[in-house]
Amino acid sequence: MSFESLGLPAALARAVADSGYTQPTDVQLRAIPPAMAGSDLRVSSSTGSGKTAAFVLPALNRGLAARAAAQADVSKRRDNKTVHGPRVLVLTPTRELAMQVAKATDSYGRHIPGLRVATIVGGVPYHAQLKALRGPLDVLIATPGRLMDHMANGKAVLANVELFVLDEADRMLDMGFIDDIKLVAQALPA
Ligand code: AMP
Repeated sequence: MSFESLGLPAALARAVADSGYTQPTDVQLRAIPPAMAGSDLRVSSSTGSGKTAAFVLPALNRGLAARAAAQADVSKRRDNKTVHGPRVLVLTPTRELAMQVAKATDSYGRHIPGLRVATIVGGVPYHAQLKALRGPLDVLIATPGRLMDHMANGKAVLANVELFVLDEADRMLDMGFIDDIKLVAQALPA
């Protein structure tokens, strides 16, 4: 089974091929088609199984589709500020994991012109994050604590999120992030 047969658009299939992958892993085979069809999924898969691509590729596919729709509808174009805030939000338990997911997103999104990916994590200055949150964004990857800070100050706009990913959700629960996750989820569109 090839990546093309999973229904990935050319820009994503090319990026996967650039990475040297010819065959989807088991989790990619099983998760990508229903995720692209818009289903809610709970996936259990170990580190190293290809799980990051299993959610990043459908997320980027959604971003591509939304961008095409916005281009067709002038009223929703980002350059007139009608659309603001990411369409995809990924929460991770740690800064390190957020960085890895961002790297994978940049890599699999390399053939999407102007793709905007931002990372919001603790332990780093606020300035660059505030700048990233002010501009239009496609994918936001965040740890819960720092995202909550930006939400409390009204700097993180989540009203346009269409896809919400909890990466390593079990670990986030183990780390006591349940209340933060609930608050973030409440700030998302239904
Ligand atoms: P993880 O996302 O943590 O499960 O790790 C996946 C690792 O496998 C990373 O090093 C990816 O670059 C790599 N990988 C992702 N998808 C594939 C694939 N289809 N075939 C081979 N390796 C892959």
